[in-house]
Amino acid sequence: MSLSTLSLSLADYLVCKPRTANGKTDSVPTAYVREEYWPTGCSSCPRYSGGDCYAIFGRTGFAMKADRPTSMAARSVRVPQEYTLRYALAGAPRSARVFRWSAVGDSVGSVPRDLLEAGYRACVEEGLHPIDYTSTWRRPESRWARAWAMASCHSVEDVWEALADGWRTTLTVDPDAMADAIEAGKTSMRVESDDGGLAVVGRMCPAMVADYRGDRPVSCNDCMLCSVEHLPAHPNRAKAGIDVVLFALHGIRGIGHRWTRRKKAYRARVGGEA
Ligand code: SF4
Repeated sequence: MSLSTLSLSLADYLVCKPRTANGKTDSVPTAYVREEYWPTGCSSCPRYSGGDCYAIFGRTGFAMKADRPTSMAARSVRVPQEYTLRYALAGAPRSARVFRWSAVGDSVGSVPRDLLEAGYRACVEEGLHPIDYTSTWRRPESRWARAWAMASCHSVEDVWEALADGWRTTLTVDPDAMADAIEAGKTSMRVESDDGGLAVVGRMCPAMVADYRGDRPVSCNDCMLCSVEHLPAHPNRAKAGIDVVLFALHGIRGIGHRWTRRKKAYRARVGGEA
């Protein structure tokens, strides 16, 4: 399939941009799942069903609302040629090393395998490492994506199950626990299951750690820890700490706000800007 044909087919599911103003990823090409596929792709994610996903219910999701005339989704209908994979790859900044998929939504759970896999490969051919996450890792039809995407996990039990099935994983952890670990000078931490019967050791996302401390920013373009094809599988994955990447839970409500409060309090204490 040519890149033009692939791009046209993917455009039914995704909106792609050559660069973004997202400081976390850096200015890198990025794909967003169209709104109509969120219920299918994201139905496995408790943050979606709980109405607390920072992407879908935050600014990024707002930008993908097709019924808003000025939204990115609406513009992608008016000038479709400027929102394709091909356009994003051609216009990617020379400094870009990664292509961020699923900036909103879940590509693995939404896009047919043949199209998505071809999209990932097109990135690699352009020298860009795909970064993607999926909450659909328990679905048999998603297993192919272990070679490309991280499994988004929400409990230690999830992590063990996903690791046993060959996924690299991310785990959202209690914001206070991660804040305590960062303030203790750590870059990795041990997380136990609620009943204490299982534990994993994971690496805390360097971008979150740097942001919390007020250090020089780290972006996904610098770090690439979440690029699956960037790292070889490790025989002792959980202990290696490279197959479990930890994020502080940062939703749009309740517990997710604790991270921001802790960060502001810390920066005020150490003299950085919040
Ligand atoms: S661990 Fe690295 S690649 Fe993953 S989200 Fe954090 S900065 Fe980005």
